[in-house]
Amino acid sequence: MNDLDKIAKEKLKNEIKKGSKPYDERSICCIQETDEKKIIKKTSRSQINLVDFIPNAEKPITFICVNLHIFQDSSGQKNYNITHKKEFKAIFDWINGYYKNSYTPNYAGICSTKPILEQQIDSRIRFILNRIEFYQDDALCNQGAWNYLPLVNAMLQRDSSMDNQLNIFLTDPDTSQPAAGYTQFPSSNMYFKQYIHSFRNRANPVPPFFLSQHWAHELGHVLGLSHTYSGGGASPICDETDTFFLYDVHGCGSSKTCPLPQSTGNNNNLMGGKESWSISTLQVARMQYCLQNLSVSKYANGICCPKCVAFGASIFRHKSQGSGTILEYEKTLANESWAWDGKTFTCPVNGVYHFGVSFQKDSLIEGGTSKDVWLKLWADSDLIGTAWSEQADARTGGIANAPQAGRRDSVCFTTNIKLKKGTVIKTEVGSSNNEKRHLVDINFNGHLLCSDCS
Ligand SMILES: [Zn+2]
Repeated sequence: MNDLDKIAKEKLKNEIKKGSKPYDERSICCIQETDEKKIIKKTSRSQINLVDFIPNAEKPITFICVNLHIFQDSSGQKNYNITHKKEFKAIFDWINGYYKNSYTPNYAGICSTKPILEQQIDSRIRFILNRIEFYQDDALCNQGAWNYLPLVNAMLQRDSSMDNQLNIFLTDPDTSQPAAGYTQFPSSNMYFKQYIHSFRNRANPVPPFFLSQHWAHELGHVLGLSHTYSGGGASPICDETDTFFLYDVHGCGSSKTCPLPQSTGNNNNLMGGKESWSISTLQVARMQYCLQNLSVSKYANGICCPKCVAFGASIFRHKSQGSGTILEYEKTLANESWAWDGKTFTCPVNGVYHFGVSFQKDSLIEGGTSKDVWLKLWADSDLIGTAWSEQADARTGGIANAPQAGRRDSVCFTTNIKLKKGTVIKTEVGSSNNEKRHLVDINFNGHLLCSDCS
């Protein structure tokens, strides 16, 4: 179990202790059967090679803007309220954690006829919580499945520009509902609008951690993922000849298990129907395909301006030699808007950004070179700055044990720069003659100064 697994399980335990109740495993979500047809048809997907859509670690992150609409009764008593904004923000942090996909999967299928795929790859998809809107209306508050149109109309009446983003509606119906919520698959009709409609879980007085798993699952459907189990209007594709068959989830040949039984205790897949969070590599590829080709793409291209974009990261010690090395940071000190992934930063909007890098060269221990060492700052393939520690001075007059300046050296570089949405920023360390460099206390930080969201 890795750290994130532990944190998630700890969080779950705490919420149960506080009296929260998890969703019924069998009803985390439903998709209306008719909407299943909207996903790309088998004939057109036969032209696709899904592995072509597996993103590499430096693909710019795709940001999807989400608005949250909370329908209270006319007195504002039912459903969540304005005091829960902090919890909703935390829920989106959890969702982005799932889509970073650091959780250990326990369902990976074994397939002897297909290449074994690396798992736990970053989906390169993140969600920005854009607006949280509250409505007071008895009828809308009580709205259950399967009709979200009155909710859409209320939103359009308030501000029709919100329909450019992905919208989640949260109602609090008096009657029990078939599932925690429902949504639709993306369509090849690029004008098709997708919404998520969720129901407040009355067993939970505050918006709970479980809601992050439910919404992460619904967002998976919005991005074109089926269930790994049978049912809920979104049964898996079990035909091995189908391009969308997930052989890294179900396996293939004689070891194939499709659908995966939902009741099994060893299935932590996001689409497995339990409170779960891991995403397979082919699921990532399927979401990336849908983002590029189906109706969900408009939510990635839509206008959305995050209120705060900032990251800070550090490395305590770094040793490397040879040609330039892209740095991977041990610690993330801040990551507002989730544009930082530990190695690269993707600009979520057009704007002016500030970046700063600093490091200490230490050639006195660990065999580090006393020659030139530098840290380059890249914006895509453009070099936008260098922090440079020059070669140490020769010993004074050639006298042994004389002080030698520059063997331990601190250097820094900062810049303000105008960049376009999707630009990827990273740092690369190098040294003269590719000699071994020993660096301590490397710091890298950045934030958005002014956005151009219009
Ligand atoms: Zn579902």
